Amino acid sequence: MNSFSRLTPSTPIQYLKGVGPKLAKVFEKKSVHTAWDMLFYLPIRYIDRRKLSSIRELKMGEKESFIAQIVDYGVSSIRKGRKKILEVAVTDGKDHAIITFFLFNESYMKKKFPVGSSVLFFGEARFYKGLKNLVHPEMELWDEDVQTTSRIMPLYPLTEGLYQKTVRNILSKNLERLLEIVEEDPRSVRDSGKVQISLIDAFRNIHKPQVEDDIDSLNLQKSPYHQRIIYDEFFYLQLGLLSKRIQKERKKTFVIGSENPLYEKALSLLPFELTGDQASAISEIKKDFLSEHPMNRMMQGDVGSGKTIVSFLSALFIIESGYQVAMMAPTEILAEQHYKNLKEFCDKLDLRIEILTGATKAKDRREILEGLLNGSIHILIGTHALITPDVLFQKLGYVIIDEQHRFGVLQRSRLKNKSKHNQIEAEPHLLIMTATPIPRTLSMCVYGDLDMTVIREMPKGRKPIFTKLFRDKERDQMYGFIQDEVAKGRQAYFVYPLIEESEKIDLKNATLMHKELKKVFKGFSVGLLHGKMKSQEKEEIMSQFKEGKIQVLVSTTVVEVGVDVQNSTVMVIEHAERFGLSQLHQLRGRVGRGAEKSYCFLVAEYAQSEESRYRLKTMEKTNDGFIIAEEDLKIRGPGEFLGTRQSGMPDFRLAHIIRDDHLLNASKQRAQEILSKDPVLISDENVLIRKIMFDRWGNRLDLSVV
Ligand code: ADP
Ligand code: MG
Repeated sequence: MNSFSRLTPSTPIQYLKGVGPKLAKVFEKKSVHTAWDMLFYLPIRYIDRRKLSSIRELKMGEKESFIAQIVDYGVSSIRKGRKKILEVAVTDGKDHAIITFFLFNESYMKKKFPVGSSVLFFGEARFYKGLKNLVHPEMELWDEDVQTTSRIMPLYPLTEGLYQKTVRNILSKNLERLLEIVEEDPRSVRDSGKVQISLIDAFRNIHKPQVEDDIDSLNLQKSPYHQRIIYDEFFYLQLGLLSKRIQKERKKTFVIGSENPLYEKALSLLPFELTGDQASAISEIKKDFLSEHPMNRMMQGDVGSGKTIVSFLSALFIIESGYQVAMMAPTEILAEQHYKNLKEFCDKLDLRIEILTGATKAKDRREILEGLLNGSIHILIGTHALITPDVLFQKLGYVIIDEQHRFGVLQRSRLKNKSKHNQIEAEPHLLIMTATPIPRTLSMCVYGDLDMTVIREMPKGRKPIFTKLFRDKERDQMYGFIQDEVAKGRQAYFVYPLIEESEKIDLKNATLMHKELKKVFKGFSVGLLHGKMKSQEKEEIMSQFKEGKIQVLVSTTVVEVGVDVQNSTVMVIEHAERFGLSQLHQLRGRVGRGAEKSYCFLVAEYAQSEESRYRLKTMEKTNDGFIIAEEDLKIRGPGEFLGTRQSGMPDFRLAHIIRDDHLLNASKQRAQEILSKDPVLISDENVLIRKIMFDRWGNRLDLSVV
C-alpha cells in the first residue's frame, strides 16, 4: 500500500498524505487510527474569516477573532509585588492591543509565539490603560497568508504535538480521497424531508464550509451537514435494532393454553384490585404468549407501581402450560423478599417455589438443582447465582429479570442462553422489569430490540411523598419531627451512601450514626444494616424491621431497590449530594407505600455544586419518576445514566440523543418504513443499506445473517 492507492474505511492513517508514523502516533492519543476516524475528526469550532475584526473594530464584551503580530513581552508586578502578570503587546499594523496573562509560563509563550509572529486571537475585549485588552484569549499561531480568500475556517481539537495547521493541511490534502470511502446510501434513506443533502457533501462541507454557510449553526452542530451525519448515525442503529427485533419475532416458541384456571384462581386471591395499567400490562404479555414467538419485553414502572405482581401473575400462564419460570433479582435481600411474598401465594396455588442465592447451603442447592431438572420446581427465584452453568432447567419457559439496571447486557444474554441447556427446543420468554424509567430517546437507542410496557398509574390511595432538604445544622429540628412519627408507631430509614473506594469510611459513618441515633431515639429500637454483614444477619435485621420490632433502620444503600415495608413513613438520606437523581428517587420509593403520609428528608452539606443543588431541588419539586429520569439523563448523559460501561449505550461520534431527538425519531420512522416493505433488506435498492448496517452493527447487535 502506498499513499496513492485507494483508501478503505479501515486504512491506517499513516497512508494519508502528510501523515507519517510519528504523526500517526500523535493522532492515536485522540483515538484516530483509521481513514474513517480521520473523516470523523470534526472541527470543534469555526472562525469567521469572512469578517475577521481589526483591533479598532473589536466591540467591548463580544467574543471576536482577529489576527495581530506580537510586538513585545513584558512582565510586571501587581498587588505590591506579590503577584506577577505577563503582558503582551500586539499590533495589526494600525492599532495596538495588550494581552494579559495572570497564569503563564513565560519561556514557553515566547517560544511558541515569538516576537514578530502572527497570531489568531479569539476572546472578549475590554479597555485597560487606554488600550484594547484581552485576558487569557484563545491563541493560535497564524502562519498562513491573511490575504487568502476569506472563508469560514474550521478549528480542530488539538493535543500535544498536534498543531492546527497540521490537521488542517492533512484534511484539506486528503479530503477528496477520504470522501471516496463514504458509501452513499440510496435517497430512500433520507426521503424523510429533514435531511436532503448527500453524506459525501455533508462530510465535505463540515470540513470545508461554504462562504454562505451560517457560522452559528455550524458552531452549534446544527448545520445541515451536522444534521445529515447525525441522521446517518441514528438511522443505521435504528435499522439494526429493528432488524434484530424482526429476527427475534421470527423465532418460534410454545403457545400457552387459552384456558387459565390457575391464573384465575390467583386473581381471586389478590387482596386488592389491579390498576388499569397493571391489567393492560398482563394482557399485553398474554398476547405475546399466545403468539408463537418468544416475548422480549421490558416493563417500566416507578417504584411501588406494582410490577412484581404483574410478573408473577403472568408467570402463571407459563406454569399452567407445563413450563418453568426463573426470576432474577439484583440482591439477596430482594430475592428473599420476592420469595417470601410469593411463597404464601404459591402454597395456596399448590406450586413449588424455591430460592437460590450465593448463600444457599450446599445440601439445599443439590436438592434445588434436582428439582429443576425433574421439573418439580415451578418457580425459581434468585440472584445472579442463577446464571452459573450448573443450574439447568427441565423446561424453562419464562425468564423474569427484576431491576434490570443492575444487570449488564452481557448477563442478560447469558441467562437467556440457559435455553441452550433446556431440554426443550423453544426459546423462553423474557420480561425485564425496571424501576428507573428509561427516557424514551434513550430506550430507543439501547433497548430498541425490546417491546415496552409502561406502568404509570400508582395503586389507589398512594400519596405523594413530601420531600425536604435539610442542612446539617438543622438536624435537631428534623430529629424532632421523626421522633413524633416514630412515637405514632411509624418507622424510619436513615440511609448512607456507599461508594466502593471509601467503603470503610462510609461504614464507619453508618456505624457512628447508629450510635448517635440510639441516643436520639431512646426507648425505641434502632437497627443497623450494611453490605459487610452476613446474609443471615441482614435477613434477620430486615425481618425485624418488617415486623416492626426495629423502628429506626440505619443502613448503607443495600436497602436501595425494591424493599417494601409499608409502615415506614420517613426516609432520611444522608450526604444526599453524593447520590444521583435516579438513585435518590429509588430510595425515596421505599416509603409512601402504605396509607399514611410519608416524608423524605435529604441532608446535605452547604458547599454543593450548582448541579447537585439542582438535583436536590428537583427531588423537592416532583414525585414523578419519569420526569426525574429525564432530568437525570440531561444531567449525567446516557452512559452514566445507564450505570455501567458495558451498558450497551452505542458510542455515537456526533449524535446526541437528547439534543438531536428529532433526528432520532425521523430516522426510526424511516427505518420502519423501509423494513415494513422489505423486512430482510433483499431488494436491489436495499442491498447497500443492508451491507452498511451489517458493517456497522452486525457484530455488536449480534445480528444473524440469514
Ligand atoms: P414495584 O416492584 O413496582 O416497585 P411492588 O410490586 O413491590 O412494586 O408493589 C408495591 C406494593 O404495592 C406491594 O406491597 C404490592 O403488594 C402492592 N400493590 C401492587 N399492586 C397493587 C394494587 N393494584 N393495589 C394495591 N396495592 C398494590
Ligand atoms: Mg419491585
